[in-house]
Amino acid sequence: MNTKESGFSTKLIHAGEIDDQFGSATIPIYQTSTFAFKNAEEGAKCFAGESNGYIYTRIGNPTIDALERQIAVLENGFGGIAVSSGMAAVNVIYQALLASGDHMVSTDAVYGPSRAIMENHYIKYGVESTYINTTDSSQIEKAFKPNTKVLFIETPANPTMDISDIAACAEIAHKHGALLVIDNTFCSPYLQTPLDLGADIVFHSMTKFINGHADIVAGVVIAKEETIYKKLRGMMISLGCNMDPHQAFMVLRGIKTLGIRIDRASENADKVAEFLENHPKVAWIKYPGLKSHPQYELGKKQMNGNGCMISFGLKSGFEGAKKLMDNVHLALLAVSLGGVETLIQHPASMTHSKVTKEGKLKAGITDDLIRFAVGIEDAKDIIEDLRQGLEKV
Ligand SMILES: *Cc1c(COP(=O)(O)O)cnc(C)c1O
Repeated sequence: MNTKESGFSTKLIHAGEIDDQFGSATIPIYQTSTFAFKNAEEGAKCFAGESNGYIYTRIGNPTIDALERQIAVLENGFGGIAVSSGMAAVNVIYQALLASGDHMVSTDAVYGPSRAIMENHYIKYGVESTYINTTDSSQIEKAFKPNTKVLFIETPANPTMDISDIAACAEIAHKHGALLVIDNTFCSPYLQTPLDLGADIVFHSMTKFINGHADIVAGVVIAKEETIYKKLRGMMISLGCNMDPHQAFMVLRGIKTLGIRIDRASENADKVAEFLENHPKVAWIKYPGLKSHPQYELGKKQMNGNGCMISFGLKSGFEGAKKLMDNVHLALLAVSLGGVETLIQHPASMTHSKVTKEGKLKAGITDDLIRFAVGIEDAKDIIEDLRQGLEKV
């Protein structure tokens, strides 16, 4: 069916459909590395780009293709490029858009490995970067240099929940002839479509909300325009970080319930946030759905909901956070997010333990910060788990 005019939830079910000879209701797994041509002429046409036939799975595969078409429709982009992980998406973008002598501006609280590989590895190839608080547009403007080619934004950022203004970022980037890239992992296209707000490229760790079941690692890059899409696609093929057909099948299965999963988790998150905000042992809480969030109005404007991620701190600080981790039973003490299960983690002692104290403070990652990824269990059970855990703090 033609899904261009359909609603988002209909697209989640039907946008990837292919014509398959048996009429299967789901997209089959084409678990093959290569594709045989009917004759020499057909082979020649495929290689010349005159036919859409498949050649080799690193270059293209029907199962992967279905997912790529679907995600491009959901993000309103020209095309999607499915990759092996969220970090593969990051590296395809860096490699395709940056060369020696170029400069990138990015969010200081960006996903740790996105920053670490830039500062530790790409620097060796002469790519410079500046990390700043991108919630402040004047700081972005000041960080730009004549050789800035990419503005790389994560919003809401991880784990501070800071929100950057995508439309304002696009304006600054384009004024300087740079491209705007958005890490849309925390929202998924259900809650935010950055290409509609002026971004040039969007990417996801599909490990999180899009697949949603904490059972695979996957990524995707979506470009708004054909020329950039082709550049990114060529880089993915050369790097060889393609998705596997089985992985694509898993994501095609998980994505169908993206809307209802986020609806349920968001409903829970609103209740959990209210509980935490009123708890006497909680020192502070950052959640886009609370008026106390510093970019509350901006969140309402550019996101279609509050999301399911909450950051908060206890009055008893670092020790209190560890005590709570050890005393919750329903919430899993684990990194990642966006799955059906509730997760809790403590960046200062876990994901960000290797970041210097100074670096953490600059990025707003305080020692007491607890990151809570709300799942789709019953809200009363999630709250009860926190309540009894906080009692022991
Ligand atoms: C998890 C994550 C990534 C990296 O994705 P992987 O699938 O783990 O490689 C990138 N950005 C954000 C915001 C993430 O949460």
